[in-house]
Amino acid sequence: MEFTDKEKKTIDDRFENLVSSCLQKYSDERIEDVRKAFDFANKAHYPIRRKSGEPYILHPISVAQICGVELNMGATSIIAALLHDVVEDTDYTVEDIERYFGLEVAKMVEGLTKISGVISVSNSLQYENFKKILISMTQDIRVILIKLADRLHNIRTLDSMPRHKQLKIASETLFIFAPIAHRLGLYAVKNELEDNAFKIKQPKEFHEIEQKLKDTESHRVLFINKFTLPIAARLTEKQYDFDVSGRSKSIYSIYQKMQRKSVTFEEIYDLFAIRIIFTPKKEDGSEKEQCFKIYSIVTDIYKPRPDRLRDWVTTPKENDYEALHSTVMGPNGNWVEVQIRTVRMDNIAEYGCAAHSNYKEEQKSGKYIDKWFSHIRETMDTEDPNGSELMDNLKSTLSTNEIIVFTPKGDTRSFPIGSTALDYAYDIHKEIGNMAISAKVNYKNYPLSYVLKNGDQIEIITSKKQTPQEKWLDFVQTPRARQYLRKNLNHQSTSLAKKGRELLHNHLKEMKLVVTPRILEKIRTYFDIDQGKDDLLTYIRVAQEDISFETLKKILRQNSKEKKILFWNIGNKESNVKKNAITTSAKNNYKLAECCRPLPGDPVQGFAIKPNSIEIHHLNCPEAIKLSSQYGDKIVQVDWFSDEQKAFLTGIKLTGIDRMGIISDMTQVLTKELNINIRSLNFYSHDGIFEGAIELYVRNFDDLQEIINKLKRTKGVDKVFRSA
Ligand code: MN
Repeated sequence: MEFTDKEKKTIDDRFENLVSSCLQKYSDERIEDVRKAFDFANKAHYPIRRKSGEPYILHPISVAQICGVELNMGATSIIAALLHDVVEDTDYTVEDIERYFGLEVAKMVEGLTKISGVISVSNSLQYENFKKILISMTQDIRVILIKLADRLHNIRTLDSMPRHKQLKIASETLFIFAPIAHRLGLYAVKNELEDNAFKIKQPKEFHEIEQKLKDTESHRVLFINKFTLPIAARLTEKQYDFDVSGRSKSIYSIYQKMQRKSVTFEEIYDLFAIRIIFTPKKEDGSEKEQCFKIYSIVTDIYKPRPDRLRDWVTTPKENDYEALHSTVMGPNGNWVEVQIRTVRMDNIAEYGCAAHSNYKEEQKSGKYIDKWFSHIRETMDTEDPNGSELMDNLKSTLSTNEIIVFTPKGDTRSFPIGSTALDYAYDIHKEIGNMAISAKVNYKNYPLSYVLKNGDQIEIITSKKQTPQEKWLDFVQTPRARQYLRKNLNHQSTSLAKKGRELLHNHLKEMKLVVTPRILEKIRTYFDIDQGKDDLLTYIRVAQEDISFETLKKILRQNSKEKKILFWNIGNKESNVKKNAITTSAKNNYKLAECCRPLPGDPVQGFAIKPNSIEIHHLNCPEAIKLSSQYGDKIVQVDWFSDEQKAFLTGIKLTGIDRMGIISDMTQVLTKELNINIRSLNFYSHDGIFEGAIELYVRNFDDLQEIINKLKRTKGVDKVFRSA
């Protein structure tokens, strides 16, 4: 349908608005180029409309607007943004773009076309797509910034899409685009992507938190004023040019914290942070010195929590973030986070990598980001037959939770949280990794499994006699180290496994026994190997330890369940519990996912991956987020409810202070007061603390909530939460 005059005017107005909002930044010549790109795209997309009915061209204009205004990008990027869907959606080719706009723009549009092409192909495995996204990103970072702008606009305007498409886009956003934005330091973009995706996936939870934030706002504003007033007074007195304000956490991060710490909205103390942004004085020392002067002013007024000073001024985060964070005791006895940064630092925090002036018109980015990119390229060189490990690797590549350690010479290296001394060894050099025997951490000896802490100084002790060990796989964390280790182990392991198998076979023969799964299970328990691991590893360990006849005899006599204090099993086998799910088409079979065990009343999502079978996951299940980004087209909408008679197996974990009779008190509550069927009850006690896991049958989500609340009120019980 042709556009109406009113629509044509809207298009022109929106474009003029784009030009005027970027005017001051570009030369007249560049603005002419931008106009040319707009005319081209406008004609190319004519008279196509979006699902919502509005002219399609409004989308590329909005994307260009985000690039220019929110991401502070240059004219070349604005041009590429205006043209980003032309090759994808019209008859024009990349060659046409090159003819009119030159090679640079054509290459960017080609990159953007490849990305959108792969994402919309519904049947291919999504990890291939992620690979392509990351490859094109590492070639020209502007391409991924435009892609993020594209995604941001799409997720802001999803309303007219069918539900399953919305869910797919939301999952993809949470799985890859938000982490990329975070990694690039684009905090505002990341928060908006996440909040929008969360709103689509769990509208009820989103609106609840949104409402609570609104309800508590006036109270919060009052508190922030009271808190900041004395600080502002002192800073004015000292003649600082500053701005102090309170900023709320994003809705999604509040939700994540509630889930992670198993707390309610009301129990979150750091709903907001105080931010002090200042222009450094000319003759008052370095930016760093001035940050600490202000820190000193703040802590003269409010007492700091000593373990909560985060100095990202001296050592910026890997995504270039700089600021001084501290937590202080506020006037009402609450902990309050205070962030101190200069205007320049604030600019980096807002625009991330896009804040570096050198890359408005070039492909260059900060040195940290370059290093990150080379890591990504390395990860993708890994050969991986099924792609699942690659997905996990990419995920950890995207993770920003990192720590910084020092080499003996005082250089810094950064690692994901949880990395070990062995990861450090492999990061220094692969041969150092292969020959590592132990680590010196701050001049003390530790095993290679030592988990790195922020600020550690590490030295790796090596030996020429050392060879890579299979058991290292249990604690090595980074994809790069894992990859090197695997490569070297493959050579060794085949011959070792053969040796181990012969050894075991000969010993057992003396006892007139043969190798059975039961025997292998006992050996695994002895070596503390995961029961899920294959036999190869077991044989290798037998060879490595050179297991003796006597040891083997001892192992076979041992009982594997030593640790448990109490084990309880009450009838009610799982097979008796019928599963009851109702979907839009009633002919399918249903499987409730084992990983998250959704209960009636939980928000759920279905996947029709295998023919005639729907797998039902909790909407929040990490596995489901992964699946929905991999199999976006296989998502089916499912309502999950059950009649009142049926019961479902679920788990609770709890911790508390061990006291006489606490277990019987708890079972009393469960079986007598609530009339709940318990399947198993496991308690471990150490140093006066107990940890427990209960498996029990409940009818639905509300039942479970009631049980959790009752248990929380039992004397001595500290934390109670659902385990899956
Ligand atoms: Mn687009």
